[in-house]
Amino acid sequence: MSVLEPSLVPVFEEVVRRNPGEAEFHQAVREVFESLAPVVAKHPQYADEEIIRRLCEPERQIIFRVPWTDDAGHVQLNRGFRVEFNSALGPYKGGLRFHPSVYLGIVKFLGFEQIFKNALTGMPIGGGKGGSDFDPKGRSNGEIMRFCQSFMTELYRHLGEHTDVPAGDIGVGGREIGYLFGQYKRITNRYESGVLTGKGLTWGGSQVRTEATGYGVVFFVDEMLRDAGDALEGKRVVVSGSGNVAIYAIEKVHQLGGVVVACSDSAGYVVDEAGIDLDLLKDIKNTRRGRMSDYADERPGARFLEGGSIWDVPCDIALPCATQNELDAGGAAALARGGCTIVAEGANMPTTPDAIRTLREAGVRFAPGKAVNAGGVATSALEMQQNASRDSWTFAHTEERLEQIMRSIHDRCLETADEYGVPGDYVAGANIAGFIHVADAMLALGHI
Ligand code: GLU
Repeated sequence: MSVLEPSLVPVFEEVVRRNPGEAEFHQAVREVFESLAPVVAKHPQYADEEIIRRLCEPERQIIFRVPWTDDAGHVQLNRGFRVEFNSALGPYKGGLRFHPSVYLGIVKFLGFEQIFKNALTGMPIGGGKGGSDFDPKGRSNGEIMRFCQSFMTELYRHLGEHTDVPAGDIGVGGREIGYLFGQYKRITNRYESGVLTGKGLTWGGSQVRTEATGYGVVFFVDEMLRDAGDALEGKRVVVSGSGNVAIYAIEKVHQLGGVVVACSDSAGYVVDEAGIDLDLLKDIKNTRRGRMSDYADERPGARFLEGGSIWDVPCDIALPCATQNELDAGGAAALARGGCTIVAEGANMPTTPDAIRTLREAGVRFAPGKAVNAGGVATSALEMQQNASRDSWTFAHTEERLEQIMRSIHDRCLETADEYGVPGDYVAGANIAGFIHVADAMLALGHI
């Protein structure tokens, strides 16, 4: 671990003490703190006004019971969460994650990251996150619907287009947003489009929202390459995961002339030297809700490797797009050995602190999720704009906006890194630029 600036040590200790057992939250806070030394030195008013301590304490945390009935008629029980972290820049904004690993520490780490990510987009959105330990795997459509309805029956009272605007994350896609929106509308008797994003295109959703996170990742990487006088054309890319972020990252890599040779799910990974067949992948994952092993069974020339590590596959560029802490120091060393020169995070915090260090030491350029994957939430903000003006934009126009936003986030990271004496450091650039944007708004709004 790097050494913290001395004035931040007691603040970090306080975070650990006040949030016991929440390792992922501690990790996310520490990573931001490690970037803040030059900021603390330059702007003493942040410390005087306790901005950093206030930022680490969520404005509101909601934990609730989610009972629902399974297809066999048994009552099932889950826990729901919404952490409304910071609203200095706009209504709380961030996704809902339905996954058995979800507990308060995961929701807090995601909510904390979301504050800075949302600030980096330049859009008027605060940071929040929510979810449940509900496991959608193997559940019928009816079970998913009843779960979503029960979840919203409690959560609705905390939401609103000017208050808190959830969206999807792992385990929550268009289908779930539909059931959640339906229940919100029914309970409140309001067609309040702006209360959720990621909606369907026929009922208030935005073009490109589905593709946005993955496309945005690749626009960001393309800008990193351009900055080095290079291009995606002909590059070998490895993408972990096979969910929404991974699928559309693969699509955009292929559109820009690169080739994705591997992707994965929790059971293992597929290597397909001819390049991942996206039509087949989308059919398996989106239509049939199947597994990567099915892909290998149906695609001539593709191999499925159970367990093992996708990072052993040699590549030029690696995009971890699955989940937190999926790329450890061993994986990072394997990537460097395999010739990888860029790692950009499509998921939230997929790279462990040790892995980031290993990549740096090996000279691999590394860009953090809060900058790289901000295209999803940025397009959510575009969806809110369209809802507010009862308008809907074309695919081409929306994609152009997304591309501009991603290229400008990239540039802001590098400019900020330069300004604070850490040139080329995307982690510091993203953390500092996001932090200053929120901190200045907090200063302006007084002691709240
Ligand atoms: N869950 C996504 C993220 O991690 C999107 C959030 C949103 O669109 O509000 O940023």
